[in-house]
This record gives sequence, C-alpha cells and structure tokens, in this order.
Amino acid sequence: MDSNGYTGEARMETLEQHYCNNPAAFPLGEMFKRGKGRGARVLIVGQSPASNGWRETGVAFHTRDEGTLPTGENLDELLRLLDLSLEECAYTDLVKCYRGKNSRGKDRGVRKSCVRGCWPIFEQQLDTGDFGLLILLGQVVLDAFIDETQWPLFRGRLSSVVLSGAQYEVLPIYHTLHRYQGSARENLRTFEKLGDELRTLLVKLQDSSSAGTSG
Ligand SMILES: [Zn+2]
Repeated sequence: MDSNGYTGEARMETLEQHYCNNPAAFPLGEMFKRGKGRGARVLIVGQSPASNGWRETGVAFHTRDEGTLPTGENLDELLRLLDLSLEECAYTDLVKCYRGKNSRGKDRGVRKSCVRGCWPIFEQQLDTGDFGLLILLGQVVLDAFIDETQWPLFRGRLSSVVLSGAQYEVLPIYHTLHRYQGSARENLRTFEKLGDELRTLLVKLQDSSSAGTSG
C-alpha cells in the first residue's frame, strides 16, 4: 500500500509521470513515430499520452491486443480523404507527461505547466524531421501553439507558421476522439473544404524533399 492508501493496480493508475520539470531527461526518440512515403513530411500532434496507447504498447493509438484506438481510427478515415493513412504519417504527443486517471477511470486532463515544460521537447523532436505539414489535434494543442508561437491560428484553417527558424503549414482540427458528435462533422467538413489545397501541398512537399535528397 502506498501513502495514499492505494494498492496494486489502483495504485498504478494513480501514478503520475512528469517530464515538464526536466525536459532534458526525456529520450527524444520516445513518443515519436516517424512517417514514411507520402506521410513522411506530415506530423500529427496529439495532446498527451493515453494510458492505453503508447504508454502501454510503445506504439501510438495501439492497444495491448494490437487493436487501434477509436481516436486513431477516426483520424485515419480523415487522412484517407487525402490518400494518406495514419500509418504513413509521423506522430507525437505535445505533452509527454502522464497524470494518471480520475475517479471515473478516465485519463486526467492536461496541466498548463506540463504543456509549457514539455514544449522544448516537442521543438527538438520537430527539428529531427523534415516536416512541412503539422496537423494539430484538439484545443490544448491549438492553445499551446498560439501561446508559444504568437501566431493567430484557427481551427479548420491552414496557416503558415515559422517555428525555430523553419516554416510549416499548420492545420488545427478537433480532437478525433468522437465519431458522431459535431466535432467529427466539422473535421470532415474541414478535410473536404481544404482537400484540394492539402493534396497540392502534399505533392509539393514530396517533390521538394526528393529534390533535396537526389542531388
Ligand atoms: Zn508535467
């Protein structure tokens, strides 16, 4: 039994794990999935690690029985509209900290201090790839980008942002946790509305990256 009176599994679920107070200690290759093919230059930025995602399996959106979390499935369906897939895109969570579960068994929300403390880790991970398009999932990530970059960003709108000296196209969307709520319909509308623009961008990104490596 620990000092809070919890035992066994209940105790495990209340354990917090923080990197925000010591970002230099974070192993940069962790919580970071590289992309490939058409998705190599696309980085999807999630909020924070879920208890049943890569905290458990080491792979984003994958559960212990090798299934995909609904959040990942919904996101994959949106990406398919661009002839992309979740599998092809790079992925990371902005916040690396895990805050345990609340009394209803749900993962606890993200603290602002965790966002702020983990931002340098995210920037370093960003620097390790040749990304051109960042897709931001959910309000916490959008707010963090606005705070840290001072750029006016809007959900459902594609914007150019300069971040640690490099330029990125950034698309904030709703979190893909839900399938039938208004947020899912809005995301679908965004991908339909920006489809041509995004497909053109993907071709441009792929051309400029192959031009850079062929010489
Ligand atoms: Zn933290």
